[in-house]
Amino acid sequence: DPPGEPSGDADDPRRGSNLLLIGILAGVALGAVAGGQWPQFGRGVEFLGEVFLHALMLMVVPLVVCSMVMGVAAFGDVRKLGGIGLETLVYYTITTALAVLVGLVAVNLTRPGEGVTIGESVAASWRIEDDTLVIEGGAKLEKIDYDHKYRVVVQGRAKPDAEVETYHGRIPEYAAVTETELPIQHWELADGTSVAPPVSGEPGLQLELARAPVQDKTILEVVREVVVGLVPKNLIMAAAETQVLPVILFALALGAVLTTLGERGGHVILFFDGLNEAIMIMVRGIMYFAPIGIFALVAGRLGRAGGFEGFLPQLRQIAWYAGTVIGALGFHALIVLPALLLFVGKKNPIAYASGMVTALMTAFSTASSAATLPLTLRGVAKNGVRARAASFVCPLGTTINMDGTAMYEAVAAMFIAQAYGIELTIAHQVIIFLTATLAAIGAAGIPEAGLVTMVIVLNAVNLPTDGIVLILAIDWFLDRCRTTVNVWGDSIGAAVIDQLEGSPDPPELPAGAT
Ligand code: ASP
Repeated sequence: DPPGEPSGDADDPRRGSNLLLIGILAGVALGAVAGGQWPQFGRGVEFLGEVFLHALMLMVVPLVVCSMVMGVAAFGDVRKLGGIGLETLVYYTITTALAVLVGLVAVNLTRPGEGVTIGESVAASWRIEDDTLVIEGGAKLEKIDYDHKYRVVVQGRAKPDAEVETYHGRIPEYAAVTETELPIQHWELADGTSVAPPVSGEPGLQLELARAPVQDKTILEVVREVVVGLVPKNLIMAAAETQVLPVILFALALGAVLTTLGERGGHVILFFDGLNEAIMIMVRGIMYFAPIGIFALVAGRLGRAGGFEGFLPQLRQIAWYAGTVIGALGFHALIVLPALLLFVGKKNPIAYASGMVTALMTAFSTASSAATLPLTLRGVAKNGVRARAASFVCPLGTTINMDGTAMYEAVAAMFIAQAYGIELTIAHQVIIFLTATLAAIGAAGIPEAGLVTMVIVLNAVNLPTDGIVLILAIDWFLDRCRTTVNVWGDSIGAAVIDQLEGSPDPPELPAGAT
């Protein structure tokens, strides 16, 4: 039996996924009224969703380690692993690039940013208290669930007749900011010179969040950051921050070394084998709770967005943008990827999709491809992908293969450029193409991670980072859609690599035997 999937799966997948669908629909129904009539309801049930999401996330690190060690061990020989590793990377890069291309073509056709008004929510008033700049109102940025790192550039006038000045700082956390305190680092004049912070300011002056004139990161710097991030100082810390990629690399190295240790290495590998199976059984246990968890996640999030009453007007405002993202995602998920599955993976896309339904619905509900990993593994095993490929390809795909995220980042960057009336040449779009691919690789498989790595793309082509404000309100929704495509892409990757890896017979026949 493949170690990834306990055989004799008793739960009928069809019935299970029906329940999940009911969970999602019930969540939408409750979320719709929870925004308006009964706001306490959405909040009331949301914790159940959090429990579900946390429980899945809890499985991810041990699962990734076991799965990768098993994946390496299954090859027996590190050199063979190098082959499949390279194949996987090439495949992922190609599909991600295709996705970005689809997105860029779509956004150039629909031009959703044209005519979008920038502002309203970005005006703010400020005052200086001691050496702290206090901003009030404005900048309606929502709390970003997992990673609060953000850079905000505020541009305004310190005195009625002063030049435009820029403030750089990090807002540690957004919660529909009504008052946020930022420690002052430096003030920068429009011509780029720095000055000491003013000791006092006139309360109530208007500050505007406007275009950031200072851009700091070149592509090379971004690449350097990604590379350094691959080797964290501390494994536990990386795992704690759901940086799965370093954990994967560590497990790869560990697995490779274990295969060279003979019998003693074999014992350790057996240990991981047992652990792997135990975790997968725990995942099955968690999935009994899935319909309720999924219901609560959807109801809570839609409720927080203000139900349909709050959400639909926001969606309408940037409907062209959302439509472009969803349309491009749909094209990639329903045409490009299935074609690859059919012609390269040699599998029927419809049958394959039905095996992945549980994983896809979980991806949609949790907005996290990392949390979905256990179900991705189960799904591809159900679809007959051999554990050898799946246990290696899926965890890797979860963190580096994000077709949906890469596409979304490219579309969003173009949208922001259009909204600000900044014309981007083909050369700029090539840079967007490259950085969106990179940013997706760098994004963790957690909710709204793509929004954070967007800054990379924006910086690379000198777009205003505060343009993110424009797309923030409905990002939670697009996040779900792109996560679903990310997971779908990972699962197809597993089938394709499995197919490329050769015939289904486990031991290779000697050359010339056939
Ligand atoms: N939430 C996405 C994922 O987990 C990442 C993103 O924000 O695009 O795949």
